[in-house]
Amino acid sequence: MVVLTEDSPLTKLVKKGEAEQLARTKGLQTVGDLFEFVPRRYVRPGQLTDLSSLRVGEDVLVVAEVARATSRTMRNRRGKMLTVVLTDDHGHELDVTFFSAYGHEGKLHPGVRGFFVGTIGAYGRRLQLTHPEYELFDDDEQGEAAVEWYRTHRVPVYSTTGKINSLQLRRLVHTALDSVDRIREPVPEPVRSARGLLDRAAALELVHRPRVDDQPSRGLERLKYDEAFVLQTILAQRRKAAETELATPRHPRPGGLLADFDARLPFELTAGQREIGEVLTAELASDRPMHRLLQGEVGSGKTVVALRAMLAAIDAGGQAALLAPTEVLAAQHHRSITAMLGDLALGGMLGGAEHGTTVALLTGSQGATARKRSLLAAASGEAGIVIGTHALIQKHVQFADLALVVVDEQHRFGVEQRDALREKGIRPPHVLVMTATPIPRTVAMTVFGDMETSTLRELPRGRSPISTHVVDGDRPGWVERTWQRVAEEVAKGHQAYVVCPRIGDVDDDALGPAPVGGGRASAGDDEDAWDVDWDDGGDGDGDGDRGPEPPERELTGVYTMLAALRANPALEGVRLEVLHGRLDPDTKEATMRAFAAGDIDVLVATTVIEVGVDVPNASVMVVVDADRFGISQLHQLRGRVGRGSAPGLCLLMTQGAGELAAERLARVAATTDGFELAQVDLVLRREGDVLGARQSGRGNSVRHLRLGRPEDEQVIADAREDAFALVAQDPDLRRHPALAAAVAMRLDEEQAAWLERG
Ligand code: ADP
Ligand code: MG
Repeated sequence: MVVLTEDSPLTKLVKKGEAEQLARTKGLQTVGDLFEFVPRRYVRPGQLTDLSSLRVGEDVLVVAEVARATSRTMRNRRGKMLTVVLTDDHGHELDVTFFSAYGHEGKLHPGVRGFFVGTIGAYGRRLQLTHPEYELFDDDEQGEAAVEWYRTHRVPVYSTTGKINSLQLRRLVHTALDSVDRIREPVPEPVRSARGLLDRAAALELVHRPRVDDQPSRGLERLKYDEAFVLQTILAQRRKAAETELATPRHPRPGGLLADFDARLPFELTAGQREIGEVLTAELASDRPMHRLLQGEVGSGKTVVALRAMLAAIDAGGQAALLAPTEVLAAQHHRSITAMLGDLALGGMLGGAEHGTTVALLTGSQGATARKRSLLAAASGEAGIVIGTHALIQKHVQFADLALVVVDEQHRFGVEQRDALREKGIRPPHVLVMTATPIPRTVAMTVFGDMETSTLRELPRGRSPISTHVVDGDRPGWVERTWQRVAEEVAKGHQAYVVCPRIGDVDDDALGPAPVGGGRASAGDDEDAWDVDWDDGGDGDGDGDRGPEPPERELTGVYTMLAALRANPALEGVRLEVLHGRLDPDTKEATMRAFAAGDIDVLVATTVIEVGVDVPNASVMVVVDADRFGISQLHQLRGRVGRGSAPGLCLLMTQGAGELAAERLARVAATTDGFELAQVDLVLRREGDVLGARQSGRGNSVRHLRLGRPEDEQVIADAREDAFALVAQDPDLRRHPALAAAVAMRLDEEQAAWLERG
């Protein structure tokens, strides 16, 4: 037998084509990856089952003969479905269904004998097995040996991938387990015994080859812990490295810009704003670089907090950079910060205040002259505040003395981008990251675990509550009423947003009858789409013809909507305009300005307005095809209304939303508590994609942990404690080479994922 390590490529075990398929569909490249590929569930037949005594929900192992096999094409899917009828010596029958006949049709002829392993479901009155694991016998001896194995083991069921079925995967994993003689052990023994964890080799055996009385979940626990432990070690090292960096202390200056600004503030700071402000001032004055995450609901006043910190930095002779995720937002920050500063932003100019500074804007699309001016202002130190998009990160952008970097809406920036900006200081600058997406504790510990966190929990006084309602788009009366409400708000002098899921074509001019094949992305690998979802406790009924699916509807585009609204008599005379990402920057900027100035009544937009756009006079938002948006995104979106004194109204319009989507919308309508919604979001999404599609590259997401589960929160907290203690003792992991290797591997993956994302 070949001797392998966990780094060996899978081509050592399978044919090239299969290895490629495993890599493509499951991200499995090495033997180690295969070990981490855990079964979706286990079947525990224990003994041979008699065909006369089957019960729904029971895990069974049956030995039987194929009596009949029929394949047919399906109405809604491409490919064929295969139904096989099994029979035993006494004439009892059992149906077996494969939603994809591929690979089975050629083998399961009438007359062949074999065993079949799976969980009994029902279809109509008949019992059936869906996609069972099976093996056909050439002779009785072979059959007996196989049956013996199944009698004594729990049978792991893997999610299948194209041509490779669960049985083949299981055999592959077993061969791999037998071929690697030293399984990696990243968790040191003292930690294992303190936490009562299995060693990794034993855990892998339990997960992939459990005997009938074993508990695979104990093995899985260990793999979860591993994942958390490695992540936390990385974070602990990052934190440790940051602690050894020296920043220039920026001491507060009484009677400076900040004091002037505070004196002019038209409102009182909330208690939270004041407290966090004090923390920031203290951290700025320290010689350790600040590394803090500021989270708070949309409209909780984060920008004011950040601006005050920027002013403190300027008072101490430094500069501040504000990094925004989009041009719209950068431009808006520039506008609103300049406005808030008033004459304090006219540094060096006639009419400027005594301690004035200037605010520069730097974006990728601005004209050469404006750009040059901003670059110069940053490099000379004339600009105390430089606001921009990614353009700020580019090499040729220089600062005279960068003291503080503020990153708005962190979830769109990677660590790498933050680091690139940090490198622009003479010494590492202080970093403050702001996010309006509330971050549950598990995510805070996992993704932002190398930062300190502050949270603004109260909204400034005078903020009006937002009420949210779901509008059934299939009921004309409701739709009509929605547009009437918009018209009423406009009549009262307020403004509105209409948010659509796509841009569409400029010449789309009618809300046409939904053509087929619209926006819904169809699953790439059909076979998997048909796999029964074991995680839900196997609703093994798996009926092939699930009744007619709702017809695919074209998602509403901005231009289609615009045309429809223009044609709507209720909105006669209302000034409508579009805003989306494909407009040229000048148009975007001009449109935002016009909306902010009240020259546009209704802005028909894509999610470009999701982040930070602040027009207090906007009081109503209609989200069209709301079921196509995620919970957090909807919450973020509706934060655009109710920012002034008028109560905000958000109408979520949807047509034929599925059950899960309907539940999501109901939850959004039911609460305005962003933290609660973030938690709901995690639970409903179940896994992986915690970081939002934009940044959840493969390496960035988690494999075993489910960040929405309370049990896992404890695992992460434990691993965090252990990892931070270990790194405190051994920062470079010199005494923990296996852990160092695991850390390096994880970082490689993250790097690769980052590069893939571009
Ligand atoms: P965030 O960045 O958290 O979304 P902003 O800082 O943009 O919130 O604040 C939203 C609006 O509330 C702004 O118009 C801002 O001027 C105003 N605001 C901020 N703090 C207060 C406060 N303490 N009292 C009243 N209004 C405030
Ligand atoms: Mg903001």
